[in-house]
Order: sequence, then structure tokens, then C-alpha cells
Amino acid sequence: MSETETRTHRTGKQQNGDAMSETSTVEDVFDDTYKEKDGPKPPRMLVWRNIILMSILHIGALYGLIVIPSASALTLAWTAVCYLISALGVTAGAHRLWSHRSYKASFPLRVFLAIGNSMAFQNDVYEWARDHRVHHKYSETDADPHNATRGFFFAHIGWLLVRKHPDVIEKGRKLDLADLRADKVVMFQRRHYKLSVVIFCFLVPTLVPWYFWGESLSIAYFVPGLLRYAVVLNATWLVNSAAHIWGNRPYDKTINPRENPMVAFSAIGEGFHNYHHTFPFDYSTSEFGWKFNITTAFIDLMCSLGLAKDCKKVSKEVIMARIQRTGDGSNKSG
Ligand SMILES: [Zn+2]
Ligand SMILES: [Zn+2]
Repeated sequence: MSETETRTHRTGKQQNGDAMSETSTVEDVFDDTYKEKDGPKPPRMLVWRNIILMSILHIGALYGLIVIPSASALTLAWTAVCYLISALGVTAGAHRLWSHRSYKASFPLRVFLAIGNSMAFQNDVYEWARDHRVHHKYSETDADPHNATRGFFFAHIGWLLVRKHPDVIEKGRKLDLADLRADKVVMFQRRHYKLSVVIFCFLVPTLVPWYFWGESLSIAYFVPGLLRYAVVLNATWLVNSAAHIWGNRPYDKTINPRENPMVAFSAIGEGFHNYHHTFPFDYSTSEFGWKFNITTAFIDLMCSLGLAKDCKKVSKEVIMARIQRTGDGSNKSG
């Protein structure tokens, strides 16, 4: 990251002191001083509890796929609503707001995003943001929780099925997370995480179709419940796996993350990953606005309603200069 880009980032962090946000310098910039330790890698230790739970979830989701034809149109619409809310809880919430501080959100919006985040059940916001900052800071090394140089499967789901590399834990502990600890919504969700997951990831998606339009409990559990949960999980994981392996690198050809339109579509805007790792503080994670980017449209809508503000954006000149300097020549925007 160039001098100018870093300074823009830091300046953005200093416009605080109001009810909408907290002060911090987010540690999401790649640190090239870290060196992997020499010698043999620590042995891979399987976490059987996660392997069994993930297997059951995906079998349940497969069953949900089979019973889709028996679900009512309202239940399918509800499934889409749950997909959108839980995805936004990850993309607009845990990712763009809490991991990167790329915009400021009011209290009601933070509550909505925390609920969406519990509905997505991908660890609480505090843990998610800590792992994600480590991912940016130590990308593609032993200290990256889903180090994509260990292959597609590890970056996708494998990292959740084995014990973390000791460097991930060590570097995670050293990160400055004071901004997250100062956010009452984040800490409340963390304290009541299990209960919030039971309510928002499983009970609400299942009980709403059953109570309001008489859907069978079984279909309501397997379609908007398990199938929706598994699809959001996999869409998120594709950002770590596919978008670190396949696609162009118009902004920085020296890093692994890539522009992957298919991932951008399924993860509602998070597939412009070469751009995102180059400019992690940009609220849009892309230079193309709403294109394949429902999350950016949502944040813009929240801004127009007065529920969000101070969206950080990289100027066209800085983007073009970066494309010229480190891009792979595939850029079509200029
Ligand atoms: Zn990444
Ligand atoms: Zn990120």
C-alpha cells in the first residue's frame, strides 16, 4: 500500500468522537515483516466435533434442496429474505463495518447487523473480525486462518475442521481490538451468542413460515433453516477459497486475491477480492458501485436514511495509479 493510500486510511479513522462509531487504527493492512517459522509444520489436528456437525448440516441442507418443490411460494420468498439478512450480517456487518471500519453505523443499524450476523452463525462478530484482520495482515502465510496456499479445501471449509496454526492464535492475540470491545452491540452479541444463534439462525427462520402461513415444520426447518444457512456459509467461504485462486488481478498482481464475478454475485458483493485486499478500507470493496454488490446498495440506502455515514472510498486517481503500478493489465475500467 502506498504512502497516500495509508494516510487516507488513517485520516478516515480519526473522524470520530460521535455516537456512530469508535476510534481505532484498524490492523487490516498487509504486514510483510512477518516470516513463517523454519522447520517442520505442526501436525494437523482434526476437530471431530466440527467435522460431524458440518457433515450433518450439509446432509440436512441436501435434504432441504430435495424438498424445495414441496415448499410454498411464501416459504421460498422467506428463504430469500433470511438469506439476504444473514448475508448482510456478515458482509455489511462483521466484514465492512466491524473488521474494516469502512463506514459508521448508527445503533439501530448495528443491532440489525448483529441480528443478521447471529442468523448467519459464523462465530460472533468479535471473533469473526479478529480472524479477518489476521487474514488481511498475514495473508497467505501460516498466520492466515484460511491460508489459501494450503489449497481450495483448506481455504474453503478445512480451516474450520482442524486446530488453528499456533501463529494464527499468537498473531490474533496481539491485534488491537479495542474498537470492538468498546462497541456495546458487539459485546452484547458475544455474551449472548449461543442463545442468539438458536433464536435467529434456527427458531425464527423455522417458526415464521409455520405460524404465519401454515408451512410444515419440517420444510420450514430444512429450507429457510438449514439449506439457507449452508448456502450462506458456502457463499462466504467462496471468498476465501475461489476468490483467492481464480480470477484477474487488475490492482495488484503480487498478491493472491482475485476479482471473481461469480463469487461477487453469490456473496452479495464480496468477490472483488483483488481490489479489496489492495484497498481494505473501501466501504464498497469494489470500484464498480452497485454492480453485483447488494451490500454496497444496502449501505448507500442506510446512508440516505441517516442510519450510516462516512463511507470511505478510494479516489479514481489513486485506483488508476495503482493499476498502472502493480496491476496485471486486465483492468477494463480505464
Ligand atoms: Zn481474502
Ligand atoms: Zn476484508
